[in-house]
Amino acid sequence: MERCSLIAPAKINLHLEIIGDRPDGFHELAMVMQSIDLVDRIDLHSISTDTIRVRCAHPDVPNDRTNLAYQAARLMAERFPETFANLGGVEIHIEKNIPIAAGLAGGSSNAAAVLVGLNLLWKLGLTQSELQELSASIGSDIPFCISGGTALATGRGETISPLPGMDGLHVVLGKFRNLAVSTPWAYKTFREHYSHTYITDEVEREERRQNVHAGPMVSAISHRDGRKIGELLYNDLEKVVLPEFPQVAKLREAMSRPGILGAMMSGSGPTVFALTETAEQAQQVRDGVKAAMADEDLDLWVAQFFSTGISTVEGV
Ligand code: ATP
Repeated sequence: MERCSLIAPAKINLHLEIIGDRPDGFHELAMVMQSIDLVDRIDLHSISTDTIRVRCAHPDVPNDRTNLAYQAARLMAERFPETFANLGGVEIHIEKNIPIAAGLAGGSSNAAAVLVGLNLLWKLGLTQSELQELSASIGSDIPFCISGGTALATGRGETISPLPGMDGLHVVLGKFRNLAVSTPWAYKTFREHYSHTYITDEVEREERRQNVHAGPMVSAISHRDGRKIGELLYNDLEKVVLPEFPQVAKLREAMSRPGILGAMMSGSGPTVFALTETAEQAQQVRDGVKAAMADEDLDLWVAQFFSTGISTVEGV
């Protein structure tokens, strides 16, 4: 096999709770993650030189070593130097549809696709959990992006427990084109304002994790109760992002239209999403928000819950 094409879905957070600080400088988190069918396409081609190249036409995506897809390929080349030496390098094409620096894990999903793709291209035979373990060294969201669907993510986000698949719900997403929120800034600002609430005792931390594991959001997912899921949406990072970016707060308000199941910011933002039961309701919400905001800079998408993470494109 000399080429491989993959679908890399975005994610939203249905629950994002910051539990405390970790000795490695990251935050201890308890999150419920959900893949959606807003996707990038990643094409990998073997090339005869021992280089890794990234090509993406989107002006805001770097084509150099800072691209997470590049870092994923580098990681595989370092871990499997003989295979890399024998089979040569790789060219990575990214067709970018997921908005950038949006809280939708676009870069992480691209990296996840490169790991899954190179495992196939180089016939390494790594299991999904081996790939997830490897991936955590370059990004906390990558292990989730590999397996996708609906899952609980704890630790710094890299410890994944799959939850029953929640397909069938629809999502409207909104983001101002020229507004990006840096994830490190959001967590740093949260620490500055809320570190007094952090739990330091390990027993209490485990209790908090268990509260999420056995809590109402996971129960609502198990019962496929869209109404309850909508009511229970929660994101600690809204506390710092919404006051700093009033536009995002305004968009969240505009998204909270009658008939929706719930609305919230995803991850560190600035994307805001609303959940609906049907595709028609999602279209109506999108049209209503578009008219109410009347802002040229606002992009809106309609998507659905997606039950898988990285998948290969059939017939390639
Ligand atoms: P997360 O939700 O995991 O915090 P995000 O959706 O907020 O991620 P990304 O779209 O992954 O953010 O991009 C964050 C930054 O990473 C961008 O500013 C971009 O320059 C850089 N980047 C590196 N590789 C990629 C990639 N493959 N796709 C998009 N951005 C990338």
